[in-house]
Amino acid sequence: MKNLLNKLSEANRALNTVNNTAYNVRRTKSNVDHINSSNQRKQQEKAAQRSLEWKCACGKKCTTKFCDGCGAAKPACPNCGAAPTGSKFCGECGTPMGE
Ligand SMILES: [Zn+2]
Ligand SMILES: [Zn+2]
Repeated sequence: MKNLLNKLSEANRALNTVNNTAYNVRRTKSNVDHINSSNQRKQQEKAAQRSLEWKCACGKKCTTKFCDGCGAAKPACPNCGAAPTGSKFCGECGTPMGE
């Protein structure tokens, strides 16, 4: 009888361990989900920033309308005013972009 009780408590212990492990796995997964979504947000913010970024003639990369290195205005398409995409022509109207 004592033997049986011992076995029973052993089984209970094992069950507890399994439960704890499952709990930990769930917790870890939700942590990972949380990290993933915040990483995604950061990447989106970075991408948005990159699209706003322009390189000034002074060599400084800026995200504002005016260069914070020399105060020059952000270059824009002379025809439609669109921000340059980095190519030689305006991405909106095809006007050749100046220097
Ligand atoms: Zn500048
Ligand atoms: Zn244009």
